[in-house]
Amino acid sequence: MSKTVFITGGSRGIGKCAAELFYKNGYNVVINYNNSEKEALELSDSLAGSLALKGDVSNENDVREMLQKAITHFGKIDVVINNAGVSFSKLVTETTLSDWENLFGINVTGTFLMSKYTAEHMIKNHSGKIINVSSIWGVSGASCESCYSASKGAVISFTKALAKELGPSGITVNAVAPGFIDTDMNKNISPEEREAFREETPLGKIGTPEDVANLLLFLASDSAGFITGQVIGIDGGVIL
Ligand code: NAP
Repeated sequence: MSKTVFITGGSRGIGKCAAELFYKNGYNVVINYNNSEKEALELSDSLAGSLALKGDVSNENDVREMLQKAITHFGKIDVVINNAGVSFSKLVTETTLSDWENLFGINVTGTFLMSKYTAEHMIKNHSGKIINVSSIWGVSGASCESCYSASKGAVISFTKALAKELGPSGITVNAVAPGFIDTDMNKNISPEEREAFREETPLGKIGTPEDVANLLLFLASDSAGFITGQVIGIDGGVIL
């Protein structure tokens, strides 16, 4: 029986690429989206048998409904990838409380809600894999991205704590910490800043969504069965 992966933020960028890669590797794929309906439905059409589900990961009812639909449709969820995320770059003095709450709602509360309700399901099956998408900035902090960095740091602590809690139930919990990856998230970065980042990267290149998707696929596989509570950097050597 095919395994099922539920990917939040599967409509674009890293999530879309992961949906395609998991599909190619025989998974049933659930593609969550929030605003990008056209992109998500086109992707779902191209991956015959996949399921596209609209929902805001920061909304508890949406999360519960989406997970219920996915379980009803495919029978179970084996892997959840908490990938949905947003970022902004602002001085802390210009960051409003609502900027902070909105970003934390998606990046942190979304990860918590998805993990909480998936864990209920996975505990019954005594197996499962939760993979959270953090960031190098969650490890090292980025200037003018204090809110984003804090949210990704929270995802890392949550990952480590949950790995300890859910390990006895046969569930692994890991995080990936990508560096600069070519997606819409970086579309407002100037060519000069992009080039500066590339030069600072020991491997001398910018990451691709495929680089991250390959790591996610490995962490979801049986080969990664003894890995839990880890934060795996995928950044071309920026943080060593
Ligand atoms: P992206 O291309 O901007 O895609 C973001 C995805 O998140 C979209 O599919 C979007 O869906 C979804 N999303 C946003 N808010 C949502 C919500 N409330 N509910 C459900 N889905 C929501 O960005 P990306 O680069 O692929 O980012 C994916 C993850 O990687 C994020 O967690 C990001 O922080 C992390 N990351 C990215 C980089 C990088 O350099 N790109 C580096 C480190 C970590 P809709 O458009 O449908 O709303």
